[in-house]
Amino acid sequence: MTQDRAQPQRLTILGSTGSIGVSTLDVVSRHPQRFHVAALTSNLRIDTLLEQCKRFNPEYAVVMDAAAARVFEQRVVEAGLQTRVLCGTEALEKVASLPEVDTVMAAIVGIAGLRPTLAAAASGKKLLLANKESLVTAGALFMDTVRAGGARLLPIDSEHNAVFQSLPGNFNGDLNASGVRRILLTASGGPFRTTPLNQLVNVTPDQACAHPNWVMGRKISVDSATMMNKGLEVIETHWLFSVPPGCIEVVVHPESIVHSMVEYVDGSVIAQLGNPDMRTPIAHALAYPERIANGVNFLDLTSTGTLRFEKPDLRRFPCLALALDALRTGQGAATVINAANEVAVARFLGGALGYMDIPRLIESVLTSTHAPAAHSLAEVLELDRVARERAQKWTVQTKLPAYPGTPRAVARS
Ligand code: NAD
Ligand code: MG
Repeated sequence: MTQDRAQPQRLTILGSTGSIGVSTLDVVSRHPQRFHVAALTSNLRIDTLLEQCKRFNPEYAVVMDAAAARVFEQRVVEAGLQTRVLCGTEALEKVASLPEVDTVMAAIVGIAGLRPTLAAAASGKKLLLANKESLVTAGALFMDTVRAGGARLLPIDSEHNAVFQSLPGNFNGDLNASGVRRILLTASGGPFRTTPLNQLVNVTPDQACAHPNWVMGRKISVDSATMMNKGLEVIETHWLFSVPPGCIEVVVHPESIVHSMVEYVDGSVIAQLGNPDMRTPIAHALAYPERIANGVNFLDLTSTGTLRFEKPDLRRFPCLALALDALRTGQGAATVINAANEVAVARFLGGALGYMDIPRLIESVLTSTHAPAAHSLAEVLELDRVARERAQKWTVQTKLPAYPGTPRAVARS
């Protein structure tokens, strides 16, 4: 077994109160000599954040909302903690780039994570990337910032972590040189993989969030049900590993045991397997290149039974088709689908839209928004703002394509 080091790795966990944040702290708590928590952040969940501060005693805690931050600061003082309480996006950027911090876990959900994740990239941190929306919305800019800042980017998304583990150890971003033919991204198919198409229209938020294999935050759970999550992950794969869109294939694998695969020109396919538990990729990236225990149950293939693999049905999952189309169209289109999707999912979760309105809204916003490639953060955020505004205003219009159906993106693919 590997010995814990003398100098602990100092961590900022952006989004520490979410699903990935909590799993990260679970792994960290198993190795108190190896890791020190320097900063934790939350949007609004100050009860959870306070418990985390009591347990891990970070130097900083950030709460996004100013009023909630004041209440939180009072409670930190009452608890006798030394933690400094900060507030807002600039504070997130500050804790993501503190000179004393080695590693940043980027686990805020949505484009809200972009600025602090870029700050961590620019300041050359070991950057553990869960916030896929950063790469989707700002791909080239994001990767340029990683290179310019000298950051070490390690994927947390289970599929990308699996790809990373299945690539050669000396992979330098050149797939041809490594003899890679294709990346095979697995997808569970979510809770509605076999639901009759005519019943999808009645799906409720709780049904959409009841993922068969993974426990996750509500936004990514809905994205998994619509398979927009896989679409975002195809875009993420493109940027992370410099893979042309035509060399990424999505394979539905309902058991979520094979987390993704790399196919080589000699016919070899290398896969990473494991029980579906995000503590595996989190521990892998935290300790990289070493390996540490993380409380995950070991895989017993004899009790797992049959592993199935299927082609995705784009009529059932029009959001996947829309994302694939956006990747082929260009960076601006990816920024727009991300924004439209975030708003559509929030409106669905809030009860304002039906489940099958999600792809209708996204296609409508995508086709009506001029989306040039953005070359700066300001341009990305402006395009995001425009798309978001349109998505907020979108109402169910009968003349738009009714889903389940064949959106233009499906017809083209
Ligand atoms: P979650 O909703 O459980 O947690 C999100 C975290 O972000 C919380 O700490 C919340 O307080 C914070 N947050 C939310 N809105 C914010 C805002 N406007 N400003 C600042 N902070 C904000 O989400 P999650 O499931 O942990 O997912 C986090 C990220 O990781 C997402 O990008 C998701 O796609 C990605 N991811 C998650 C999983 C998973 O298993 N949960 C797997 C792969 C990738
Ligand atoms: Mg994933």
